[in-house]
Amino acid sequence: MSGRHEKGVNVQVLLRCRPFSDDELRNNAPQVVTCNEYQREVAVSQSIAGKQIDRVFTFDKVFGPTAHQKDLYEQAITPIVNEVLEGFNCTIFAYGQTGTGKTYTMEGECKRSKSGPDGELPSHAGLIPRAVKQIFDTLEHQKAEYSVKVTFLELYNEEITDLLAVEEITKVIEDKQKKLLPLMEDGKGGVLVRGLEEEIVTSASEIFTLLERGSAKRRTAETLLNKQSSRSHSLFSITIHIKEANPEGDELIKCGKLNLVDLAGSENICRSGAREGRAREAGEINKSLLTLGRVITALVEHLGHIPYRDSKLTRLLRDSLGGRTKTCIIATVSPAVHCLEETLSTLDYAHRAK
Ligand code: ADP
Ligand code: MG
Repeated sequence: MSGRHEKGVNVQVLLRCRPFSDDELRNNAPQVVTCNEYQREVAVSQSIAGKQIDRVFTFDKVFGPTAHQKDLYEQAITPIVNEVLEGFNCTIFAYGQTGTGKTYTMEGECKRSKSGPDGELPSHAGLIPRAVKQIFDTLEHQKAEYSVKVTFLELYNEEITDLLAVEEITKVIEDKQKKLLPLMEDGKGGVLVRGLEEEIVTSASEIFTLLERGSAKRRTAETLLNKQSSRSHSLFSITIHIKEANPEGDELIKCGKLNLVDLAGSENICRSGAREGRAREAGEINKSLLTLGRVITALVEHLGHIPYRDSKLTRLLRDSLGGRTKTCIIATVSPAVHCLEETLSTLDYAHRAK
């Protein structure tokens, strides 16, 4: 990692392996993935038709099936959120096959756990609520004036939908033409999504309500519009402005942004059924996932041209990838044999980003 710091690229790749599901346990699913958190290694071994597969991958950090949400947050995310509070833009991605814990890692499952002791989050709370809590805990202890804004959008088929906009979902279905938002250049080297709702929030609990509302909208739209949830990306962004005075008494505004991206299932890359009506959809999903991979490779390898413009996702994140920003990719895998092929391709993709 230190080498990358020196070169000014700051991409951290973590690997998280979820526990066996109840189904897998019931079926005695063989385990093919073993994590060594101490050595930061993941080993995949399996013999198929007399052929033995044995591969070992090293990451910046490895979290095995018994790692708690809190462990991952404290060991990997706290320093990133501190950067955001210092006025930098940072992005955290969850990348992996559908069903391996991307949403669990990002949002968590508050309903599955009782809320903890006063001021503590439920044990299954994911990165988003934890980051929000860290941000408000820090800001509330500072004397400075601040503002916190959030946006929450979904990218499906390279089309952007606002997950915070309050509109009748039934009405959305009626005109079928759901409210799609155009992406435009802002003239300052960045982009903006025209019409995207920006909510100003004043406490952590308000963000939890928004997150829940956005996720519910995402689920409803999926069912009603026949979307396949595994094919959409969601982007939750928190922007912080802090008013500060320097020793000379001049006022300055520190602005930091944290992007939390729950990517489309990695099985949509390459192998997705590129036939009939699905062809365009598959291609478009590949576009954001593939372009993201290329952008990260270009950043890590210091290539002159970074292909941000090739997909909506990378255009949206342009001001938060590269330069003086921190990027964290959390690759998620299943321990079970039936996911082996996808697990290997996730490990390969994530390893290339290092
Ligand atoms: P994805 O978003 O990648 O499709 P989910 O986050 O929906 O996957 O996870 C699939 C299931 O596995 C969920 O029921 C979730 O609760 C469970 N799960 C995933 N990761 C973990 C974990 N680290 N610990 C406990 N349960 C997990
Ligand atoms: Mg999910």
